[in-house]
Amino acid sequence: MTSHSAGIGLQIAIESSWYCVITMNSSFCLCRLGGPGAPFYFCSIPLHYHLFMDTARHYIFLGPPGSGKGTQAKELANILGIPHVSTGEIFRDNIARGTELGKKVDELLKAGRLVSDDVTNAVVSNRLKQTDAARGVILDGFPRSLPQAEYLATLSVDVLVVLIELPDDEAVQRISGRRTCSQCGAIYHIEYKPASKSGVCDTCGGELKQRNDETEEVIRGRLSIYHKQTEPLIKFYTSSGQLIRVNGLPPIYEVTAQMWALLKL
Ligand code: AMP
Repeated sequence: MTSHSAGIGLQIAIESSWYCVITMNSSFCLCRLGGPGAPFYFCSIPLHYHLFMDTARHYIFLGPPGSGKGTQAKELANILGIPHVSTGEIFRDNIARGTELGKKVDELLKAGRLVSDDVTNAVVSNRLKQTDAARGVILDGFPRSLPQAEYLATLSVDVLVVLIELPDDEAVQRISGRRTCSQCGAIYHIEYKPASKSGVCDTCGGELKQRNDETEEVIRGRLSIYHKQTEPLIKFYTSSGQLIRVNGLPPIYEVTAQMWALLKL
C-alpha cells in the first residue's frame, strides 16, 4: 500500500486488486482498482468523524472564478460528510424562485458585482444556524471581503482556508467556454467537455446556454473584484496560519491530490 494510508489504520484487501483503507485520522474510504500503481478512487462513505469533535470546523475555499474551488469544495464536503455551502448557489436559487432576496441580488449577479456584506453575512449566518451545520461546513465563495472574514471570526468557529491559485488568462479561458444546460444544470465546456451535439445537453436534451455572468467582459470584471476585495483575505488568513495554497492549474484530480496531502486527510 502507499503513503496515502498514513496514520494508524486498517487495510483490508478485499480482492487482489481492491483495497479498502480506513484511517484513524481521516474520514473516508479509498480503494484502488487494478493493483499497485493504479489510481485511487475515493469512496463516498464518510465516517462522520466530525460527530466526535467538540467544535465545528469550517473549511473555506478561496480562489478566483474558474479556479475549480466549487468542484474541490463539493468533493471535500462529500468525503467529510458535511454540507457544501455556496453563497453563489444560494443567491442563484433565490433568483430562480423569485424571492425577495433573489430580486434584490439579481442585477448584481448579472453584472458580476458583489452582494453587500450585510446581506451576505445574514445569508451565511442563517445557513450556519441550521442543524446540519453544527459540526462544520464547506464554505464556497464566502468570505469574499475583509468585513465578511471579520464577521466570520466573531462566530468563534475553527476555520481552515484552502486557496486555489490560477492565472487570470486561464480563468477567462475556462469560464468563457462553459455552457450550462437550461433544464438540468449540467455543465459542459466548448473545448474541454463538449456536448455530442453542439448546444444540446447529452443528458436531457435541454438547450445549453452561456451564463450571463460567464462572458469574458463580466469575468474580467469579476477577476478585478477578486484581486481588489478578496485577495486581502490571503494575508488575513496567512498571518494566522490558517491557510494552505494549492496550484489550480493541473487537472482536477491532481489538484484534489495536492489538497488532500496538505490537509493531511
Ligand atoms: P459564485 O457562484 O461563487 O461565483 O458567485 C456568483 C455571484 O454571487 C458572485 O459574482 C457575486 O455576485 C455573488 N456572491 C457569491 N458569494 C458572495 C459573497 N461572499 N459576497 C458577495 N457576493 C457574493
